[in-house]
Amino acid sequence: MAVPHTGSEAMTPDAKRSLVAALQAFLPANAVLHEDEDLRPYECDGLSAYRRLPLIVVLPSTVDQVARVLTLCRQHEVPVVARGAGTGLSGGALPLSNGVLLSLAKFRRILAIDPVNRMARVEPGVRNLAISEAAGAYGLYYAPDPSSQIACSIGGNVAENAGGVHCLKYGLTVHNVLALKFLTIDGDLVTVGSQGLDGPGYDLLALLTGSEGMLGVIVEVTVKLLPRPERAQVALGAFASVEDAGEAVAAIIASGFIPGGLEMMDGLAIRAAEDYLHAGYPVDAAAILLCELDGTSEEVADGVARVREIMERARATEVRTSRNETERLAFWAGRKAAFPAVGRLSPDYYCMDGTIPRKHLARVLTRISALSREYGLPVANVFHAGDGNLHPLILYDANKPGDLERTEELGGRILEECIAVGGTITGEHGVGVEKIGQMCLQFSPAELNQFHAVKAAFDSQGLLNPGKAVPTLVRCAELGAMHVHQGALPFPELERF
Ligand SMILES: Cc1cc2nc3c(=O)[nH]c(=O)nc-3n(C[C@H](O)[C@H](O)[C@H](O)COP(=O)(O)OP(=O)(O)OC[C@H]3O[C@@H](n4cnc5c(N)ncnc54)[C@H](O)[C@@H]3O)c2cc1C
Repeated sequence: MAVPHTGSEAMTPDAKRSLVAALQAFLPANAVLHEDEDLRPYECDGLSAYRRLPLIVVLPSTVDQVARVLTLCRQHEVPVVARGAGTGLSGGALPLSNGVLLSLAKFRRILAIDPVNRMARVEPGVRNLAISEAAGAYGLYYAPDPSSQIACSIGGNVAENAGGVHCLKYGLTVHNVLALKFLTIDGDLVTVGSQGLDGPGYDLLALLTGSEGMLGVIVEVTVKLLPRPERAQVALGAFASVEDAGEAVAAIIASGFIPGGLEMMDGLAIRAAEDYLHAGYPVDAAAILLCELDGTSEEVADGVARVREIMERARATEVRTSRNETERLAFWAGRKAAFPAVGRLSPDYYCMDGTIPRKHLARVLTRISALSREYGLPVANVFHAGDGNLHPLILYDANKPGDLERTEELGGRILEECIAVGGTITGEHGVGVEKIGQMCLQFSPAELNQFHAVKAAFDSQGLLNPGKAVPTLVRCAELGAMHVHQGALPFPELERF
């Protein structure tokens, strides 16, 4: 039986030297990093609270090289963590101390833009925004727009099923990807998906999307492109309470039309963003909503009037609409820079990600502020309100003894609140290492059993990104979240995962 690879087993110096030599046999010397000072930049992703030096970092530049890296790791039973731009917020690309960190940073080519069929074929390291920039020449764009889009890679977006401001209307990554090429741990190249709306066989494209580097390494992505809307305008509503803003969100969605984006920021986030970027936000508001309407000029004018009416009925203290493109972009710039803006308020911040039914927005936000007081840690909220996708940002100081532990506990309790109202522990950032404990609460042993069976079908030795996304049944039992009968787990045959 294969040993589980959790990053805790050290490799002997001799074994490391021999692996480095084997990698250098087909990769240039500067594409195999193994000295501590070279490994340091890779020690964490966007969840910087957790850091670990990888054993080795490789930076291949061809699909054949990636395949050879995987085959070699498989032979040596060495775990592999794929890394895009490293902006992930759940620790999915956190290295393993006994594993190879496989960077896709050199895969930055846009292979084809097909304006007739409205699609683009790109390498996995291409930045999200670069796709829209390239497609712009044809009046097209790629809709999913994570706030990190200037930096994050499309491969990472697929692996996390990334969302963004415009996903409310246009769908998440999974709804905008047509096909993928990925390499299995055996180094086999597999193509999934097609240009058609449906195809025979299991939907492996959907399965790979959001699989957090646990099933294969994505080496090519074909995405849908959409025509740029004729016009877009943002309505900014200010509210004296988050409850009123939450009510406006529910009323906008219930009115039957779907805005291009519907985002909420609370008082702390508004003031941080305004201080940082001067977006023109009302700093005395308890919450603002940014609601974008896009389409033809008539549709936008009609939508703006309806949104204004709904916001006013929900007791908005002020409703403004962007008067031109510069102002529209300024409204969004404040929202998109909200995380770094909040980051300036304290030495560290921890970004949570949970989704709840929209009708519970006000209730959960009120509960989060009560928990914030209980733990003595400020929490700012900036989120995709239309999707019910919360992003509480917990402010803490990692240098203060106990602060990180309290932050983690507070984060866990927020996620448990999400589950309690029928929500889920992630909306777009993935599970990674961050929310792995809460997976035990959200899923039953039978459901986790199915996840492990899928993993085993792709990667029987558990070498691709082990220890992430799906908890071992043993871990759930240790957390007290799984029933252990007379010392036996419900699925003993899967204990190794
Ligand atoms: C300021 C800020 C704002 C953000 N805003 C958003 C937002 O609005 N919406 C959102 O969804 N996310 C957001 N994120 C999170 C992050 O940007 C996304 O999760 C993004 O999709 C990660 O892409 P990446 O290239 O950085 O991936 P990485 O962090 O490098 O990796 C993420 C995961 O994908 C896997 N992976 C990466 N590349 C591959 C590949 N080629 N094949 C297989 N697996 C792979 C990794 O193993 C890891 O599990 C934000 C992050 C920051 C820092």
